[in-house]
Amino acid sequence: MKVLVINAGSSSIKYQFLISETGEVLAKGGAERIGLDDAFIIHSKSGPEKVKIEVDLPNHKEAVEKVLEILTSTEYGVISSMMEIDAVGHRVVHGGEKFSHSAIITPSVKATIRVCIALAPLHNPANMTGIEACEAAMPGVPQVAVFDTAFHQTMPPAAYMYALPYELYEEYRIRRYGFHGTSHGYVAQRCADILGRPIEDLKIVTCHLGNGSSIAAVKNGKCIDTSMGLTPLAGICMGTRCGDIDPAIVTFIMEKEGLDMKGIDALMNKKSGVLGVSGVSSDFRDLYAAADSGNDRAKMAIDMFIYQCKKYIGAYAAAMGGIDAVVFTAGVGENNDDIREKAVEGLAFMGIQIDKEKNRGLRGTEANVSAPASTAQVLVIPTNEELAIARETEKVVKLLHEST
Ligand code: ADP
Repeated sequence: MKVLVINAGSSSIKYQFLISETGEVLAKGGAERIGLDDAFIIHSKSGPEKVKIEVDLPNHKEAVEKVLEILTSTEYGVISSMMEIDAVGHRVVHGGEKFSHSAIITPSVKATIRVCIALAPLHNPANMTGIEACEAAMPGVPQVAVFDTAFHQTMPPAAYMYALPYELYEEYRIRRYGFHGTSHGYVAQRCADILGRPIEDLKIVTCHLGNGSSIAAVKNGKCIDTSMGLTPLAGICMGTRCGDIDPAIVTFIMEKEGLDMKGIDALMNKKSGVLGVSGVSSDFRDLYAAADSGNDRAKMAIDMFIYQCKKYIGAYAAAMGGIDAVVFTAGVGENNDDIREKAVEGLAFMGIQIDKEKNRGLRGTEANVSAPASTAQVLVIPTNEELAIARETEKVVKLLHEST
């Protein structure tokens, strides 16, 4: 099935057009600066060559139309007509408690995504804009919503409830949701495939370490806990987000620094994390460069990140009653051998031993980097959220065809 995968942000639309069965990417790219001056589309067919097409993109609908024009053009295209697009898969960040699976987009699904705007005010409105733009540009083509939160909906109440007055859960659905679910689900399944064992028999900790980072405990194929919470601010410290802190710090800083809600929100989301601690950068490549040249705060930020990863790995092994595999994925997890090595250092007592030689220098490729004596496997698995969304889309569309 030829699926167009759409990830719509507030001023951008990333797209990938691929064959869901084989994973072959026919074309990919992104429309940037939608609604702003100097908008452009970066587009590539299979292969590394990219073209930058400067074009007016007053809104998301016109951006989608332009992308479709490019996909069907003689110069840059890969299909002769829009009719060749079998389905569109949309990344939707928050599905609340309503969606534990992907869903074909209907008016009632859209209404529920809108209700979830309260839980993801930055992401869900942009995702909705992308959906509506595609509906308008491709009438009759099935549209599927794939939620970042869905994979985590199997968590039991003991893991997802916060110890706040219960009425707040009843009234506002305040609870842990977790994010990066498409990625955690994809790498957990890939891990089982690589190990040649059914996922139903495995206890896996998946570490999605990028700009935003989250860790999940996947027991017998189901997520039982994850580090992000009601929002993607919780869990391990990230590029610019603080992760878990004593909640009393929030009101303390607001009072001392005279910050309002917007101010404290920006401080915790944009000025904290390894950027805030180091004062250098949110990018781990910059942090290592600074640490190597003697910057102690950069080194401390790296150490904090590693320590927090390790704590979650240990906690989730305890939560699952054992551990068969640790998976590293996303920008940092796939590329940074030092963080992988140190995040599992000293965990031989729980059966985790990394092969330092195999791990060293490994970037962006699938590999089992455990030492022969390790009873739990340590794997590097590049994530592929677009392929996971395309496969989900295919599944949902096939189910729809079967039922009609
Ligand atoms: P996002 O959450 O925005 O998708 P990514 O998964 O792309 O983020 O991760 C970004 C992080 O990955 C950065 O901190 C960067 O240092 C790290 N990273 C990306 N590519 C490399 C690389 N080739 N070598 C080392 N680190 C990398």
